[in-house]
Amino acid sequence: MSGRVPAAAPSKRTKKTKPPTVGFVSLGCPKATVDAEHILTRLRAEGYEISGTYAGADLVVVNTCGFIDAAVAESLDAIGEALAENGKVIVTGCLGAKGDIVRETHPKVLAVTGPHAAQEVMEAVHAHLPPLHDPFVDLVPEQGIRLTPQHYAYLKISEGCNHRCSFCIIPALRGDLVSRPVGEIMQEAEALVRSGVKELLVISQDTSAYGVDVKYRTGFWEGRPLKTRLYDLCKALGELDVWVRLHYVYPYPNVDDLLPLMAEGKVLPYLDAPFQHASSRILKLMKRPASAEKVLERIAAWRQVVPDLAIRSTFITGFPGETEAEFNELLDFLDEAQLDRVGAFAYSPVEGAAANELPGALPEEVREERRMRLMQHQEDISTQRLEAKIGRSITVLVDDVDEEGAIARSSADAPEIDGLVYITDGDDLEVGDFVQVTVTDCDVHDLYAKLA
Ligand code: SF4
Repeated sequence: MSGRVPAAAPSKRTKKTKPPTVGFVSLGCPKATVDAEHILTRLRAEGYEISGTYAGADLVVVNTCGFIDAAVAESLDAIGEALAENGKVIVTGCLGAKGDIVRETHPKVLAVTGPHAAQEVMEAVHAHLPPLHDPFVDLVPEQGIRLTPQHYAYLKISEGCNHRCSFCIIPALRGDLVSRPVGEIMQEAEALVRSGVKELLVISQDTSAYGVDVKYRTGFWEGRPLKTRLYDLCKALGELDVWVRLHYVYPYPNVDDLLPLMAEGKVLPYLDAPFQHASSRILKLMKRPASAEKVLERIAAWRQVVPDLAIRSTFITGFPGETEAEFNELLDFLDEAQLDRVGAFAYSPVEGAAANELPGALPEEVREERRMRLMQHQEDISTQRLEAKIGRSITVLVDDVDEEGAIARSSADAPEIDGLVYITDGDDLEVGDFVQVTVTDCDVHDLYAKLA
């Protein structure tokens, strides 16, 4: 019997074929008119129709004026009329900058922005009325240009980072955390799934912090409120019926909330959590928030909820001032933590990193020798964890097929960085298939299997 598992069900959401239509009401001075022109230009460029009537529009944008009392009253009336006639209203312009007056008078408006805010207005429009992709007119496919194979894709949820780890210059290069609007991420994820993606790889600089910068504000996806928070995002991604894999997750308490989603199969039982070190003195010098004991407690608690959880982590060896004893603490931590996958980097004094000023810089040979020792130490742990899978039946996603069989990955293997599953009798499978296999053997990194 073939071990092929039915491919993930296509999204239940069907696409509309009528172009999305926006009604536009513009009040105020010539500056407001120019703002309106910018928004209308963006709307038309993205394929939205503009309607002259409320009834013909899917939603209405009201560009307001707040200059004098009469203008405020006129703007509030216009919003009220649009709500009564159409029901879905986004407010922009000067009145939006005048505190809460719009929301207090008309609590049902979908979004309120200030003047000169074309980008925010477009985000609000996208959240409530996604643009329609037209394959005959659009210059790029709906899912954009991608460099990954068709069956998996990276999904970036934020940019920048609020931490200031002393070895890292990313915050200086990319700035503080900026979370992408949750509705926009969901629309991108849906487009990827429609294009054939079977696995979404959630990435950022600090995935667990998603939404902190916007105070977990409520966004919208398909007209439904959705909080800008990792748990809510993962739950919504879990509805798309594809693999969802989380990278760069820091062991903050809010990560515990994700474990039930993994137990339910909404998100893969996989966490890529860069711990960097185990010695509390070195972690402090690195300006990392966690302590090794807390991390070990947390890992034990995670495994109680999801016994099959695969944990990947990365570490830095030879950080300035690291003693042999502190390095050994790290090896002891690995014994205790029993991580599935480990990557290690010898400390590299990146120009501009604060850690370069610390005393006790170690020679390159020592940094590199410790890195190799760490990797050798972990090899036994990784091998034992793989050996425990021999004889078990697991689901894998096929990455490549040739006459010698198929190469796939299990839920414990992210592309490019983790191991592979070689299916010796998988030569009639197809790339992107989900299949059930029985594990027959392993080596240090990879599994060998036969179709179940
Ligand atoms: S290492 Fe990661 S968490 Fe630390 S500052 Fe750099 S990007 Fe932020």
